[in-house]
Amino acid sequence: MGIDLNHGSGFVYGRIGHAISVSDRVNALIDAALVARNRRQTPRDYLGGSRIGEPCVRKLVYEVTHTPKDEGRDFDGAILRIFDAGHQFETLSIRWLRGAGFDLRTERADGGQFGFETAGGKLRGHIDGVIVAGPDVGLRWPVLWEHKALNAKSWNDLVKRGLRASKPVYFAQVQLYMGYLELETALVTALNKDTEALHHEMVAFDPPCAQALSDKAVDILRAAAAGELPARIAAAQDFYLCRMCAYAERCWEGER
Ligand code: SF4
Repeated sequence: MGIDLNHGSGFVYGRIGHAISVSDRVNALIDAALVARNRRQTPRDYLGGSRIGEPCVRKLVYEVTHTPKDEGRDFDGAILRIFDAGHQFETLSIRWLRGAGFDLRTERADGGQFGFETAGGKLRGHIDGVIVAGPDVGLRWPVLWEHKALNAKSWNDLVKRGLRASKPVYFAQVQLYMGYLELETALVTALNKDTEALHHEMVAFDPPCAQALSDKAVDILRAAAAGELPARIAAAQDFYLCRMCAYAERCWEGER
């Protein structure tokens, strides 16, 4: 019996003779649809609280002013699938917490997200939820609730070192949220995407930290409005944050 290599194997052949599997073709379509959906979304015209802990203020000004990223540095299908999965994991954690008796509110009566906005709407935060009542676990309600879905390595590091040391951007996010929402405590639920293990860290409000973050936001918004670019975070482009930065080419243009 002959084998039809073009049709019976699940492979087709590209113009240069390489096999393109059915899987690759389906994935290309999925990722193209995700990228198209992402491009249709209206870009934020404000500084989000989830970004305030980013260490490079210049990068935050690029983000707030919608400066185009370097070529090929927009979110691709792989990262967009990770974002989508994070939302699904969050839905699961909400269900599990509510099932355990925690009164976790995640939406306003009109279906919108809880949050805050200030500086004429130029600084905003959208929270995952607030627990207003629940079993006695040593917390005084209400508490801000934030959820993070992490891979095993990142989750283990968080469990070992705590939010402040392990995830400073998330720590800054919850501090700013607590500051503007006048909450004294946050509960950060971290889900291990490999095992579905859960870790819950209580984070106390740190007023000087929240104030410093609020001041940082004002400086960023002022610079953005004035068309100014703050100093770079590093003296050379090979600094580890610059190597990962989607604005590195633009940022260091003319410096090499
Ligand atoms: S390349 Fe470096 S200095 Fe420039 S915006 Fe990015 S992180 Fe900041």
